[in-house]
Amino acid sequence: MRLAILLACLLALISCTPETETTNRSPASSSAGSSSTTGLPARWSSSKLSSPLSVKVSSAFDTDFTAGDYDSDGYGPIRQMMKLWNESTTLYDFFNLSEANVGNREYSNLTDYYYQDGAQFGIYKSNSWFSDVSSAALAVTQYYGNKRTSSTGSQYVEIIHADIILNYASYTFTTDRFDYGSYDLPTVMLHELGHLLGLGHYSHPYAVMAPTLASYEVKRDLFYDKTNIANLYGSNNLAVKSLLKTNGAITPTSHPDDGEIVRGVIELMPSGDCHHYLEGKLIESHKAKLR
Ligand SMILES: [Zn+2]
Repeated sequence: MRLAILLACLLALISCTPETETTNRSPASSSAGSSSTTGLPARWSSSKLSSPLSVKVSSAFDTDFTAGDYDSDGYGPIRQMMKLWNESTTLYDFFNLSEANVGNREYSNLTDYYYQDGAQFGIYKSNSWFSDVSSAALAVTQYYGNKRTSSTGSQYVEIIHADIILNYASYTFTTDRFDYGSYDLPTVMLHELGHLLGLGHYSHPYAVMAPTLASYEVKRDLFYDKTNIANLYGSNNLAVKSLLKTNGAITPTSHPDDGEIVRGVIELMPSGDCHHYLEGKLIESHKAKLR
């Protein structure tokens, strides 16, 4: 028993990273346009979501999955996480689940996933990572969108392109919830797909959209996040819908087609806290020390 606790601590310590590295960028914090878009809400338009988004999955993930990872519909772990977002609200089916996988894309510049491959939204592996993204980031979601002004005068970003890239240069990922030395791939996917839909970070410790993740954490349900997605695409989206219907009394302050293109990059950082779990029970928690 004592040996088991020691082993669990060692595994947890290996996954701890210096606290100074756990900085997070807010959604849309970097901009390819001329003005800053910090803090602007981002979402897909209701017209774009009138049919589910086609987000391709790299076939490079296939070899990581075992037969037991597929559900009764034949969906692998990544599609299963898309399905959870689809089921999180009755407003939309966000993702098309029945897509063929595609060959992996690995560009040295993050922006090339848009500039070289703008027609495809995808989930890819990177084995080399990017010079302008923290090497400590577990994954990154990059999106491009048009800056819009809703009929109520509030500004937002209408997403037109998004990709998710996982940092296989620095980390290992697993579908085995008891492999505490690797990060839970379904959890990371569920988190990044939330960004792809426009959600920012939500600092509730049990939320999938919490800004950091530890290697022993497994969060494969959206119980603490479904209100946020409903808010983003529910009542708030009424303004977006009325913007698209430019007849009658509603006069949008900017034309729907001339929005400035903006870029958002959101990183998921490993947890700066060391939490030591043993058989699913928290036995110790402390701040990571600088090494
Ligand atoms: Zn994140």
